Amino acid sequence: MFYRSTRGSSEKINCASAIIKGIAGDKGLFVPDYIPKLDLLPYEMVGLSYHDIAIDILSKFFPDMEVEEIRECVLSAYDDKFSDEEIVPLSEAGGAWFMELYHGKTAAFKDMALSILPHLMTLAIKKEGEERTIAILTATSGDTGKAALEGFSDVPGTEIFVFYPSDGVSKIQKRQMTTQEGKNTHVFGIHGNFDDAQTEVKRIFNDKEVNKALSEKGYLLSSANSINIGRLIPQIVYYVYSYVKLIEKGEIAPEEEINIVVPTGNFGNILAAYYAGQMGIPVNCFICASNVNHVLTDFINTGIYNANRPLCLTNSPSMDILVSSNLERLLYHLSNGSEEEIYNLMSKLETDRFYEVNSEIKQGLEDFYAGFADDNETLKTIETLYKEEGYLVDTHTAVGYKVYQDYIQETSDNTVTLIASTASGYKFAEDVNQALGIKKSEDGFEAIKKLHRVTGVEIPEGLKELDKKEILHEGLIEKDEMLSAIEKNLK
Ligand SMILES: *Cc1c(COP(=O)(O)O)cnc(C)c1O
Repeated sequence: MFYRSTRGSSEKINCASAIIKGIAGDKGLFVPDYIPKLDLLPYEMVGLSYHDIAIDILSKFFPDMEVEEIRECVLSAYDDKFSDEEIVPLSEAGGAWFMELYHGKTAAFKDMALSILPHLMTLAIKKEGEERTIAILTATSGDTGKAALEGFSDVPGTEIFVFYPSDGVSKIQKRQMTTQEGKNTHVFGIHGNFDDAQTEVKRIFNDKEVNKALSEKGYLLSSANSINIGRLIPQIVYYVYSYVKLIEKGEIAPEEEINIVVPTGNFGNILAAYYAGQMGIPVNCFICASNVNHVLTDFINTGIYNANRPLCLTNSPSMDILVSSNLERLLYHLSNGSEEEIYNLMSKLETDRFYEVNSEIKQGLEDFYAGFADDNETLKTIETLYKEEGYLVDTHTAVGYKVYQDYIQETSDNTVTLIASTASGYKFAEDVNQALGIKKSEDGFEAIKKLHRVTGVEIPEGLKELDKKEILHEGLIEKDEMLSAIEKNLK
């Protein structure tokens, strides 16, 4: 197995090198040359732990690492940092199965991959004999930033930079990032939105002069965003694991198809679901749920990607994105690895913020259903799920459930359905409280306490004492100051 750029110009490289580089030199994303099949049929995996399945899947995508080494990474990543022994428990509510991906340290699903990425990165550095310090640049819509900071804090041989839209994240998300400890952590708010941050980070990655100058000082740039294959592959694991669990619970027959619903922003999580399908998990439909920034809904329904629209700030801020990076990988696979086609589409996206895919790709999109929910529908969904089912979800997961309801209305499909539950309701407590009719709070921290008083649902450990933590990162910069912020901190 080797990795190459979706845009074709890079040579074939091994997984360690792809993890270290993060993004290809031609601005493309690294993709594996094939998607491996699972060794065992899902029903033969019944009884395996999250760790067993993770070791199996990661070994297939990262064959130049020893299985023993991967086992160590997996065991160090998925330990008692997760508050649930199962790592990813399933809860049934409202006619669907919620796959709870938020029991890690930062209370959002980004912990699933960012708990292990630093271990994989350290291993990759050793394998490649890389002597430079890895400087990780991360653009975040709120959740990746904190999870990456937790993961990389004080990891030897790394420096971590996080850029978040100053007005585009929840207060709790902001406080989580600005109170981060660790000598190698650097956090900046920017005047601008997530797309601005992501575009500038990608530009810096591809600036040859900058890379050369940093290299001379002993630094190599890498990414903790889902453009890094080392983050994407660990996300496949929970889809396979949850499918096996549904068999174990007697909810589905051994080879029965399921639907998978994913509240989607940068298209990383749903792409991991697609990879799980390619590996052998039987999927009837991938349901892509967006908020009012519904570029992806329009794209899946028409084959036209049009980012020429204003970005709206919503109550599901981690999905306030107009340019979804990982879609590039799906297009690559659906076009049978046609690099030239991808190069042309992405060039058009850069110049016109617009493209239309060919009929071959359109046909591939038929496995996907797409819809969106606005802020009011999101709140209404939280209310209904709590009042009728006693089940608390966050705003992003509510978007997923609402779109699933629309899907059922439209199709009458009764396939067993798995919904990616991407964050704890406490992370967006102010909005959740509004949904439940709980009186408005002074701030996010009081909102957390009120929500706890009303629901009795346990508060995630990492959010409990957040308001008492010292603010360590106050930086607020313009987007064209990101590079100098990096250079200043890399001496
Ligand atoms: C990041 C995030 C998403 C979107 O996931 P993508 O992989 O970017 O599509 C959805 N919900 C929450 C809570 C998130 O943090």
